[in-house]
Formats: sequence, structure tokens, C-alpha cells
Amino acid sequence: VSTTDLGVAAELLRTATDVTLLAHVAPDADALGSALALGLALHRRGASVRVCFGFPDEVPESLRWLDVAGLVVPADDVPATAGLLVTVDSSSLDRLGRLADRVEATVAAGSPVLVVDHHASNTFFGTHHVVDEAAEATAVLVADLLDLLGVELDTAIATCLYAGLVTDTGSFRRARPVTHELAARLVAAGVDPDQAARELFGTHPFAFLPMLATVLERAVLEPDAVGGRGLVHTSVLLTDLDGVRIEEVEAVVDIVRTVGEAEVAAVIKQAGPTTWTGSLRATGAVDVRAAALRLGGGGHRLAAGFTAHGDRAEVLDQVREALAEPVLIAGEPGPRASG
Ligand code: 5GP
Ligand code: MN
Ligand code: MN
Repeated sequence: VSTTDLGVAAELLRTATDVTLLAHVAPDADALGSALALGLALHRRGASVRVCFGFPDEVPESLRWLDVAGLVVPADDVPATAGLLVTVDSSSLDRLGRLADRVEATVAAGSPVLVVDHHASNTFFGTHHVVDEAAEATAVLVADLLDLLGVELDTAIATCLYAGLVTDTGSFRRARPVTHELAARLVAAGVDPDQAARELFGTHPFAFLPMLATVLERAVLEPDAVGGRGLVHTSVLLTDLDGVRIEEVEAVVDIVRTVGEAEVAAVIKQAGPTTWTGSLRATGAVDVRAAALRLGGGGHRLAAGFTAHGDRAEVLDQVREALAEPVLIAGEPGPRASG
């Protein structure tokens, strides 16, 4: 795998005067935090900087506090080409949604496109790559780049990096020692971990509660669906979203996955009459990325996603089929005793 030297990538960033940073569609804290951390640093160095994503039009409410410098611009305001285009946390072009064409146009104009990502499934679009699946978050790779650039971590930059770290490591449950050390540096730079956790995971509008009640009531446990292991699944219908922001739905899978009898949790979310996005989560024995790939999606071994089409029952059938003969993660124990 031809990953560009970190030093070469840092040099691209050091000399750039006009930079567009793209996060993936429906950005999470790692995507937006990574883009904003890099954006804030380059902005501070005097570069002209914008941060954007292809969908939805607004920054999710739980991430708005990260954009202290107002770097996020609407997708329509992203110029066709950039002096330097950087994509973060995006494994393939389609993850950029309607901004994918900016990659092609920038390459065609002879300008560099730097891909910074930690997905094993990265397709190496673009011209330069800082891709490392050993990194728990793209924010880890951005921190490496900022160190090479000699950027001092101020509170704003550190907070954006921390948001990516705490989210993608599952609140540091999956963090290497070196990543805990990075977190310590970020806290020393002024991050407030309590505020970060409250903003990112701990705040919902009241309408979240009735939506959650409806969706949890719909949950089904299928004890043998994943090659003898348990599957718990539920679905979120458009009609459940009355007064609920779409990003609130992302929290549902974190509750569903707490079911002890299930190795895999699946939440399918209706995005249109016959269009659904799905989230898969595993506790450790089953590789849900493999199942997501069968469904045309991707992600990580323990957290993956996909888009599917059909009515609810059809999509659930597709999910069951993708999980029926699971790819096991080596070194993991056999099926858990139920209960
Ligand atoms: P989530 O369930 O939080 O939306 O996504 C979990 C993981 O799966 C993330 O790392 C994300 O990158 C990946 N993922 C989610 N949806 C898709 C998709 O449609 N395609 C691909 N390739 N990856 C996805
Ligand atoms: Mn992401
Ligand atoms: Mn990530």
C-alpha cells in the first residue's frame, strides 16, 4: 500500500495558501474534528481555508461548538478546484457525496488531493495519502501532521482532535497507550473532557425520548442469526422523526448494542421511501465490516455502515443474509453462552 510519507504530506500543508478540507457525508466528530483541527492550524498560518461536507446542509448540533472560527461553509460555496484539497476520514469518493466532483476537478487542474484516513477499506483516490488503519481515529493522523508542521496545540485545535479521539475510540475503550498519551497532551492544552462528553454524547432534545421509546419497542432479538450468535436489530422510520433532528438517530445504535445476548447490533434508518442507511456494531468476535461490504458499505471491524434499498422487511432480510455466515475475528472466543 503506497502511503505517502508523512513528511511529504506535511510539506504540502506547509506550502498551501488555499485549502479546501472535506469531511464525509453525515459527518461525525472524527471527520469534522479532524477537518477543523487542520483547518484552524492552516488558517492560523495565514492560509485561506474552508471546511465542508456533502450532506446534510447544516452542521450537526452536537458538533457546532467545534467550529469556533466559522470555517464551515455550505457545500454550494466550495470552489470547483482548490490549491490543495484534503479529504479526512473518508474511505472512498462516494463518502464525499455531492462534493466528490471536487476531487476529480482538483486532480484534473493539476493540484494535489491529500487523503487522510484510517479506514482499512480506503480506495486510495486522490494524489497523496496518509492512510493508517492502526490509527483509532483520523484525528490521530492529523495530530501527527500538526506535530510535523510544528503547530502549537491551542485549546481550539486540541478540542477538535479530542472530539475525534473520544468518539472513534469509544470513549477511549479502544485506545493504544500512545493515543492515551495524545489525549493527555490535548487535556493539558485546555480540553475540557466533561464538556466534550456532554456536547458529543450527553445532550438530546426532549423529542429524542419518545422517538427512542418507539424505536426500542420495535427491537427484536434473534439469538442464532449471526452464525449461532445473537443479533439484535431495530428500525427507525421517517414517521418516528417528528421533531427529532436526523443526527439524534445516530445515538440509537449505542443503546441497542448494550444487549448482552447479541454479538451484533443492527439499526436500519429510513432515509427515503425505499432507501435506508444501516449501522452495524459488534462486541468483538464478528467482523461487521465484512458484512457491511457485502451490503455495499464499509467501515471498521466493530463498527460499520451501509446504504440499502427496498421495504423494511426486504432490507432486514438483506442484513440477516449478510450476517448469516460471519467472518470471525481471529483469536476471539467462540459463541457466547446466551444470557
Ligand atoms: P455509522 O454506523 O456510525 O454511520 O458508521 C460506522 C462506520 O461505518 C464508520 O466508520 C463509517 O465510516 C462506516 N460507514 C457508515 N456508512 C457507510 C457507507 O455507506 N459506506 C462505507 N464505505 N462506510 C460506511
Ligand atoms: Mn467517520
Ligand atoms: Mn474515523
